[in-house]
Amino acid sequence: MMLKTTSEIDIVRVKASKINEIDFENLAFGNVFTDHMLVCDFKDGQWQKPIIKPYEPFLIDPSAKVFHYGQAIFEGMKAYRDENDAIWLFRPDQNLDRFNKSAVRMAMPEITEDIFIGGLKTIVDLERNWVKKGLGNTLYIRPFMIAIGSGVIAQPSTQYKFMIILSPARSYYSGEVKVIIAEHYSRAANGGIGAAKAAGNYSSQFYPQKLAQEKGFQQIIWTDDATHTKLEEAGTMNVFFRINDTIYTAPTSERILDGVTRKSLIAIAKRDGIKVEERTVLVDEIVSGAKDGTLKEIFGVGTAAVVSPIVGFQYQEQYYELPIIQNSIALLLKDTLTKIQYKLAEDTFGWTVKV
Ligand SMILES: *Cc1c(COP(=O)(O)O)cnc(C)c1O
Repeated sequence: MMLKTTSEIDIVRVKASKINEIDFENLAFGNVFTDHMLVCDFKDGQWQKPIIKPYEPFLIDPSAKVFHYGQAIFEGMKAYRDENDAIWLFRPDQNLDRFNKSAVRMAMPEITEDIFIGGLKTIVDLERNWVKKGLGNTLYIRPFMIAIGSGVIAQPSTQYKFMIILSPARSYYSGEVKVIIAEHYSRAANGGIGAAKAAGNYSSQFYPQKLAQEKGFQQIIWTDDATHTKLEEAGTMNVFFRINDTIYTAPTSERILDGVTRKSLIAIAKRDGIKVEERTVLVDEIVSGAKDGTLKEIFGVGTAAVVSPIVGFQYQEQYYELPIIQNSIALLLKDTLTKIQYKLAEDTFGWTVKV
């Protein structure tokens, strides 16, 4: 192994890359990982020196807090290769901010910009061969933090591991998405952890999602926990509703995750003269919009799929199908955002960051 030490990050390289064994044409999302991972330990009240080393399993004590009390947070972002072979990140500062907000909410230590952004740039640069050219090819980046301190006592850990792993991904096509509107289960509640990218927010969705899938729906549109009358998120994505020619999305709150895709699409819509409003959207509005034809589109938005159009929704045992339309705002916004990310359109916002 070759050991290279920069002032900030030690790098231990693999002897041989496994990149030639990977079928980049047939990647299932999130299953293949690159040669290296970044690891940084927190102990004695501070972050230690990060290391990039070969991707491999590691040992944790069976009594580690992450297993028993779920102290675990993550981020999701992507790297893109442009036509001139430069590699770009998209608004990584937003992911750092959100990661630290999640950390505070879960009583975990905040990470430094040096480790998070510096670590991202260093590992993505090292793995740049894994970022393939062409629209739709990306390197999905998963920074995360877990509590590794031992002891089955319900207290925050004093030891943590921050890691970054990387997974090459093709553009994510989820097929036809039909959703069911939540009338009983909730993803988040006021005062809870819904605004944090905390692991437990996802495991708590698995069971209601399984019930929805058994009924033939791919996703759940989450409503507010108190009344189930306000539309909040679509699965693990933010959600937009187009009524006539205006798109609406709920304001972020303690129950709604502040998505980077959501806020980027709002900014693009405002710049490009597409009518957009952040306001509460009621279940009743989309039911009556579906009945009178004014509801034109529903789409989920998030880093993985960018924009995921929804073809219909079920509410109170009644299924409402959306019209097939020309001039989809969802697809227009997706196209504009994607072109910024791949440097095919001018980035008037200054969102893209070169690796
Ligand atoms: C990650 C996530 C999103 C989307 O956030 P992006 O920053 O756009 O990827 C939306 N809702 C939930 C619940 C999420 O976990």
